[in-house]
Amino acid sequence: MGTIDLSTLAEKRQKSIFRDILPESHMNACFTCGTCSGGCPLTGMESTKDEGLDCRKAIRMAAFGLDQELIDSRFVWICTGCQRCEIGCPMGVKLIKVWGAAKAARPRERVPGVLHKGVDMCLRTGNNMGIPEDDYVTLLEELGEELAEECCPGFITPVEKVGADYLHFQNSKEAYAEPDDMKWWWKIFYAAKADWTTSSKNWESVDWAQAASSPGTTPVNTAARPT
Ligand code: SF4
Ligand code: SF4
Repeated sequence: MGTIDLSTLAEKRQKSIFRDILPESHMNACFTCGTCSGGCPLTGMESTKDEGLDCRKAIRMAAFGLDQELIDSRFVWICTGCQRCEIGCPMGVKLIKVWGAAKAARPRERVPGVLHKGVDMCLRTGNNMGIPEDDYVTLLEELGEELAEECCPGFITPVEKVGADYLHFQNSKEAYAEPDDMKWWWKIFYAAKADWTTSSKNWESVDWAQAASSPGTTPVNTAARPT
C-alpha cells in the first residue's frame, strides 16, 4: 500500500461504500485493541507480509474510507472466513461483513482466478468439476448398489425424493476423484434411518457463495470451504 494523503481522509470517508454497513458492522466501535489480529491465522504469514495488512489495520481502512485500498487488497481474499477475529472482538465489530463488502465491490473480472473459475463452473454446470448430470446420477446409483451389497442391505441412493427431511450435498471432488468417500455419509444416514435425499442438479456443496436448497428440507453440507 502506498502513502496515504491524510488531507483527503474526511472526503473519502464521506464517500465510502462501507458507510452503508457502518451501523450493522459497528466499525466505529473499534478501539484498535488488536484482539482480532492476535487471533487471526493470517497474521504474520508470508502471504500477508508484502501488504502489511492484518484484521486490525484492514478494519481501520474501512472505517477511514480507504475503500479502493481494501478492495484491491489480497487480504480479504485469503481470509479463510474462520470468524476468529469477529468472535474475539470485545466491541462486537462485524469484521466478516466488512470483508464480504470489500470482496463484493471488486469487479467480476478481477476476482482471483481460482474463485472466478470455480464459481463460473458451478453456475454453468452445477458443480465445480463440471460433472455432467447423467454421469453423476449413474455414479450415485452404482455407488448405492455397491453399498447395499457391501454392508447396507436394501440401500438405494435417494435422488430427489420429495418430502425428505434432509437434503444432502456432496463435495464435487469426492464425486470426481474419491467417489467411495461419499459412502461414509450415506452409511451414517442409513444407520440413523434418516429420511434424506440428494439432488442431480446444482449439488456442489463447496461454499462458492452459491446456496441451493429445496423448500421443506434441511441442507446438510459436508464441505464448507473451497479447497
Ligand atoms: S478486536 Fe475489535 S475493537 Fe479490537 S482492533 Fe479488532 S475490530 Fe477493533
Ligand atoms: S475470518 Fe479471516 S480475518 Fe478473521 S480471523 Fe479468520 S482468517 Fe483472519
